[in-house]
Amino acid sequence: MAARTEVAGAAAYAAVGVAELLWDESRHPLGAGWRVVAKKELAPGTVVVREIGCAVAASESGAICPVCFDMHTSTQEESELAPCRALAAREQRILAPLMQAGLFDELQAYGVDRQLVLLWLRVINLAATTSDDLPAPAAARLQAWRDTLWGLAHQDVSAPSDTWLNGVTMAAVVLVQGLPPAVVAAATDLLLPLVQQSSHGESSGSLVEVLVLLAGMLNRNGYSVRAAREPNRETAWGHFPVIALVNHSCHPNCAVVSRPGGELEVRTLGTVRAGAELFVSYVDLTLPRAERQAHLLASKEFTCTCYRCQHPDAFPHEHEASMPSCPQCGLALRWTQTSASGKDDTETATCYSDAGGCGAVVTASAVQSRLTEAREALSQAGEPSAVADVVGSLLPEEHALVMQARLRLFARLNKDEAHREGAQEQLAKVAASLSRLVPTLWPELLEFEWLALRSAHALACEGDQSDASRLNSRLTALRSRAERIFGLGHPFVEQLQFST
Ligand SMILES: [Zn+2]
Ligand SMILES: [Zn+2]
Ligand SMILES: [Zn+2]
Repeated sequence: MAARTEVAGAAAYAAVGVAELLWDESRHPLGAGWRVVAKKELAPGTVVVREIGCAVAASESGAICPVCFDMHTSTQEESELAPCRALAAREQRILAPLMQAGLFDELQAYGVDRQLVLLWLRVINLAATTSDDLPAPAAARLQAWRDTLWGLAHQDVSAPSDTWLNGVTMAAVVLVQGLPPAVVAAATDLLLPLVQQSSHGESSGSLVEVLVLLAGMLNRNGYSVRAAREPNRETAWGHFPVIALVNHSCHPNCAVVSRPGGELEVRTLGTVRAGAELFVSYVDLTLPRAERQAHLLASKEFTCTCYRCQHPDAFPHEHEASMPSCPQCGLALRWTQTSASGKDDTETATCYSDAGGCGAVVTASAVQSRLTEAREALSQAGEPSAVADVVGSLLPEEHALVMQARLRLFARLNKDEAHREGAQEQLAKVAASLSRLVPTLWPELLEFEWLALRSAHALACEGDQSDASRLNSRLTALRSRAERIFGLGHPFVEQLQFST
């Protein structure tokens, strides 16, 4: 026990460099494992964790660099790209023969995704590769990936099903059989201590066992990396064991922010008082409660009991994201009983007068038929007026289905010069709805606001001074929020200027 605590604690402090946090070793009363508590009051935008982790690119397209998870551009200097290229080439020495032997196809037959196989190979490579002859930044990255492994021992694992476990085990056996014996021996030496220190039972001492354990940890605690300039675009996925110590809430006080080079930071979204636990979100915060809970139960194996899930009425827009509007007055309905499933026909929804509604009561089947009607109308909505009709009659503006329809509409209209104005309007409406559903400094929200503002600026008629100054002051306000959550000098912040 003591050894395990030391390993995780050392990794935490090495990665964090912020001593005002308390990493609580005691198990959470609700069984959620570790928790991170602020030792003193933290200002908005405080960096509480910074970690490189060990991840692999999310896309197979080749547009994303497998080492730094950014899009390399043609304007970058050769010397800037050299470390990425050197490290990628080193990994290819093991990867290429396996690819040629058709190993990836063979493994996919066991239902194992390609990203997991790439991550396994990256970890195995850490044992087989030395830092000799690598440029200093590449050697540092290699060492950071190795360090990550030492933080993993404390992590819980999950196996969504026996089928998954069998598939992953078979794939690991086949992979290990396909590797050169010297590589297997080196990887076993490096990785076995991980199983021996973790609390997951007796170890058989095999590399297969370590690989299955890593897959289970990734299932439970994997994090995604986003493009530094595009917080809504996932570029990589992998192990971030220190960040994984921070628990989940659907009403988080911290956000995970991606930095260039695939580094992640946890930053506070507002003032956090001393003694408060820090939370990030593991799900899309715009999802309705039932969907957030189902997602967390399936992927992370826990039932969320966060403040927002327990007190949905304290979040005025919680109902609007998932419920139809009242047929009489247009306000979002709420289930009459908080425990309602919506599937039992004796249940009802109410247009609560204390929330400003008309008091109408509607049956569960009427709620479902309004949702079905809206879903059908939106799936065929090719024009802004069709979405506006649904918002006027069936759904609140903030409903998840409306936001999805507006994003589809934006993508279609934006292709055509003549429809740019309509496209811009869709984006602005999504940004406005998002701002009611997520915290003010939420990185994904800031990207939507930026896209909406940039296209409004591109459309603004030249010479209209009042328009220009209004857009400029909105840009200044957006920039100051972005500086708080991303930090000064972050590429997302640097791009926030209108092209002339
Ligand atoms: Zn790179
Ligand atoms: Zn929750
Ligand atoms: Zn009403």
